[in-house]
Amino acid sequence: SHTKTETHEDFSKNLKEFLDEMQTNQIREHLRKFTRLPHLAGTEQNLKYAEQIKKEWLEFGLDSVSLVPYDVLLSYPNKSQPNYISICDDLGNEVFNTSLAEPIPQGYEDVSNIVPPYSAFSAKGQPQGDLVYVNYGRTEDFFQLEREMGINVTGKIVIVRYGKIFRGNKVKNAMLAGAKGIIMFSDPADYWAADVEPYPDGWNLPGGGAQRGNVLNLNGAGDPLTPGYPAKEYTYRFSLDEGVGLPKIPVHPIGFHDAIHLLKKVRMNIHTNNQVTRIYNVIGKIRGALEPDRYVILGGHRDAWVFGGIDPMSGAAVLHETARSAGSLLKKGWRPRRTIIFASWDAEEFGLLGSTEWAEDNARLLQERAVAYINADSAIEGMYTLRVDCTPSLHTLAYDITKQVSLLAHTTHLKLIIHINLKLSSLFNIMISKLGSGSDFEAYFIRLGIAAGRARYTKNRKTERYSSYPVYHSVYETFEIVERFYDPSFRRLRAVAQVRGGLIFMLADSKLLPLDVNEYADSLGKYAQSIAEVAQKHPEQMELYKVSFDSLFSAVQNFSAAARDFYARLQTLHTEDPLQLRVVNDQLMYLERAFIDPLGLPGRPFYRHVIFAPSSHNKYAGESFPGIYDALFDIENSADPEKAWQEVKRQISIAAFMVHAAAMTLTPPA
Ligand code: GLU
Ligand code: CA
Ligand code: ZN
Ligand code: ZN
Repeated sequence: SHTKTETHEDFSKNLKEFLDEMQTNQIREHLRKFTRLPHLAGTEQNLKYAEQIKKEWLEFGLDSVSLVPYDVLLSYPNKSQPNYISICDDLGNEVFNTSLAEPIPQGYEDVSNIVPPYSAFSAKGQPQGDLVYVNYGRTEDFFQLEREMGINVTGKIVIVRYGKIFRGNKVKNAMLAGAKGIIMFSDPADYWAADVEPYPDGWNLPGGGAQRGNVLNLNGAGDPLTPGYPAKEYTYRFSLDEGVGLPKIPVHPIGFHDAIHLLKKVRMNIHTNNQVTRIYNVIGKIRGALEPDRYVILGGHRDAWVFGGIDPMSGAAVLHETARSAGSLLKKGWRPRRTIIFASWDAEEFGLLGSTEWAEDNARLLQERAVAYINADSAIEGMYTLRVDCTPSLHTLAYDITKQVSLLAHTTHLKLIIHINLKLSSLFNIMISKLGSGSDFEAYFIRLGIAAGRARYTKNRKTERYSSYPVYHSVYETFEIVERFYDPSFRRLRAVAQVRGGLIFMLADSKLLPLDVNEYADSLGKYAQSIAEVAQKHPEQMELYKVSFDSLFSAVQNFSAAARDFYARLQTLHTEDPLQLRVVNDQLMYLERAFIDPLGLPGRPFYRHVIFAPSSHNKYAGESFPGIYDALFDIENSADPEKAWQEVKRQISIAAFMVHAAAMTLTPPA
């Protein structure tokens, strides 16, 4: 058949139209309508929003949209037995109780179904005992307490401040230290910006506000009761005590007004229930014109702790606008080369459950066909500049798109400073970092090996040193906090829509996939260097146990050479030959897959990427060469140094083999 071939001019024109179509007032309207009511995962309201999104995506012109349900383990406070913490006198009488709810913000007084602050998946119980303060509850904080101060928390209740690391890691550390309960509080030192008023006069966290959040240690498992398999109706479920990552001790979050009262001895009263509950992902598709069997995914969650003004609806509004803009281009006759999948995930807040179950359900298709996954959680966490975290092969594309968007933004007078840490340009200095976890890209990137990235507006990390943003996961995350303080013009959200949308557009419609193998080679070189430096802090042991990084450095060299040659061949590629094009595009797509070790990392079978994993000490942070890193961690205090160093050697050899094997996938096919 005679389809008119698309020229480069058509392509650029379409991209520009796609980005220009995204409008600030539309994003504002999307955010307004999806933040009126609380929509916690597993509630009626979150299903209603799912149905509304489906209806609107169909109106926008997507080819198909469906609701995909799973039955996963969620956790809710007991409505008739509230959670709180008390100080008791010698007779056991409660002389002080922490608050049962946050003061409701003005305008929302009549709203029902606001879940009070709680730690999802906390164990039930009423432990009573002495309190021990352990700073942020990090590994190093417990080391200091136990090793330097000689304090044992066995049988004690620990109190830690929120911030620095994922809260689930704090709970794990407290459990391992022998604590029988853990209280987490928001310290103004971490959740209060200088010279800013508390909400509603500013964007700081009021003293009565507290941070909700799950306290699981899933290590990528998804639904705790169905690890490895989608949580369908017929799926076999483990019992609650066999579930993955569930804490064994009571956990509860409080605000700083309550925290100042708590000293010496307390009783926790926790009655939260675990419950298998139906959740709904919304999956929308635009069928690819030429390569329908190649998927580019833009996904972000819809479920919120309360209204979700920032988390996640600032991201969901941007996702909605991206779908609208793509639909409008479709109506004008455009169709992307590859299939685009839009996803509105459910139950992210309960441990990335909706996205992980869908990944488990579709693993076979995804591992054969997925080109890239772009995440669409919160679009703002500050007002300063754009921030991108992505896999190395997306560095160059992320840079090009942010540059294009910032140029667009300059023409509309939005001050947009971009930090670039790559040597790509002196004009735009973009800070592109590696991916950690704590959002829905995890299963796609770290379990399945799909190239992934995320982009959002962020704060100035030099001057604003508080953790995440002050009202994070509180009832004060409203539409108004965005409209009054974070982005009154909605231009920041539009910039984020354009970056996320631009990435999707380029990945779905470029003839040659915009993935940069040389950037991967550079990053591998840096990571190898830095992990070798960690080991070199123990020169005698390296000598004694004959530990060498030569194999890893040599594999990285092979990889760099293969990448350079691959890149050189691309320059003479006949892009009019669809088979030649498909051959190299497959090599590009499958490069990320090559880093997947089917056996997974030690003790973490669903973390299978050998180059990147969430840090074992902080799920939010990314660790490079995580197998080697964990083997080396605290090795000076190992009970069996011989065995520990043998494990380091094993991990180095696995990393070397994986990098070498990945290099082979870039060499000429024959
Ligand atoms: N984004 C949610 C949080 O930080 C969930 C993260 C997770 O369970 O990995 O609380
Ligand atoms: Ca599952
Ligand atoms: Zn979120
Ligand atoms: Zn969240």
